[in-house]
Amino acid sequence: MINLSRRHFVQTASGLLLLSQSPLSLSAKKNSGEIVIIGGGVGGATAARYIKLSDPSIKVTIIEPNANYYTCFMSNEVISGQRTMESIKFSYQHLIAMGINIIQDFAQVIDTEKKQVITKNHGKMSYDRCIVAPGIDFRWSLIEGYNEQLAATQFPHAWQAGQQTIRLKHQLEAMKDGGLVIISAPKNPYRCPPGPYERASQIAYYLKQHKPKSKILILDAKENFSKQELFIQAWKKYYGYGTNKSLIEWVKGSEGGIVEALHAKTRTLVGAVDDHIGDVLNIIPEQKAGKIAQLSGLVNKQGWCPIDQQTFASSLAKDIYVIGDSSMASPLPKSAFSANNEAKVCARAIVASLHNKPINPNPIFINTCYSVITPEDAVSIAMVYKYSGTKIEKIKGSGGSTALDSTANMRKREVNYAHSWFNNISHDIFGG
Ligand code: FAD
Repeated sequence: MINLSRRHFVQTASGLLLLSQSPLSLSAKKNSGEIVIIGGGVGGATAARYIKLSDPSIKVTIIEPNANYYTCFMSNEVISGQRTMESIKFSYQHLIAMGINIIQDFAQVIDTEKKQVITKNHGKMSYDRCIVAPGIDFRWSLIEGYNEQLAATQFPHAWQAGQQTIRLKHQLEAMKDGGLVIISAPKNPYRCPPGPYERASQIAYYLKQHKPKSKILILDAKENFSKQELFIQAWKKYYGYGTNKSLIEWVKGSEGGIVEALHAKTRTLVGAVDDHIGDVLNIIPEQKAGKIAQLSGLVNKQGWCPIDQQTFASSLAKDIYVIGDSSMASPLPKSAFSANNEAKVCARAIVASLHNKPINPNPIFINTCYSVITPEDAVSIAMVYKYSGTKIEKIKGSGGSTALDSTANMRKREVNYAHSWFNNISHDIFGG
């Protein structure tokens, strides 16, 4: 039902969200508190900006190892050659201009008793509140023979944008016409539920133009996936999905989609049913919270960070907040849109707590996930959520997804919405 009413609803809800979560207007005074943020990605950078906007007297420091951030969102378009790496690269200059300290370093562990973050090169940093926003880490051990080193050199997951994004793109360019690209998609929960299928669509678009005899095989650990009907419809339309000439084949978990091992030398993925030899292997491993969260005692048995969904305060350590993909914010998906929302709710709760002010009792969250299938065709899924008093819940009747019978014009408009969303959210995260 991609239609004006859904669009209008989301726009209206966005307005409400901004009003309900706009920065607290607090008179500036000296030393309102010290906040250390681990990770300068979507969650961390947004939280830093919104805390500073609320109260410029709060000292805000981000610890982040990289000088620039590359967004995962729209990185699939880089892989298919539809946009440049430069277009998904963001510096911290606007955050620095606001008075946010950026320490280019790696946080090794948090001493939650002493309230200190121990960094690799800058010693110990004390905090009044610490926001943990390190994104994801991978469960390497679940695919025998696959590891971090192989991902960095030969078989990029490209699930954290950067060098691996470029490597995957170059591998596709170097592949012969008639080659096989294998994408292995992980079990839930993981970063960006529709991401592997957007990636398959983008790679298929590239192959159809440049290497039309090639194929993509998606080995999926799941039984179904986000926006499945819309993706399948598009794959039928553009790539003959379901016929023996299809450019894309999808194998679900129960039919052999689960990958158990990698034989790197022969580029073979060992599945529960068959082995598959590919020319390009894009293995997206199962995921867990960022390593710093594991090392600092902030995760549960499943490897994710339990939180109070009203404020994002850790359930396991005092004065620590976890936002973004590491946190257990379900039903919010692990997306940039969610991480950006969570950061604002968390920023407001922290500023309120430093000033002994009441927190927002019922924060509202919005998520829209766009998937760009071709330069003329995109689909989306949207939902509005509210903290109900005990947990975050979907607001009944809100949201929706692109209609299966939407016109070509509507699909083209979705591409424009996706790109303008990218511009807007990047601006909201990194300023400028
Ligand atoms: P990140 O943005 O990954 O930031 C984590 C930061 O922490 C990184 O900069 C990292 O360097 C830093 N860090 C980690 N450990 C440490 C440490 N110990 N010390 C210091 N710093 C550390 N979402 C959408 O909403 N829409 C989309 O269209 C979309 N498309 C996607 C497409 C792909 C292919 C992928 C992979 C993801 C996509 N996403 C999308 C998901 C989105 O990118 C993530 O959900 C989002 O980046 C999560 O934000 P985060 O702050 O939790 O983590």
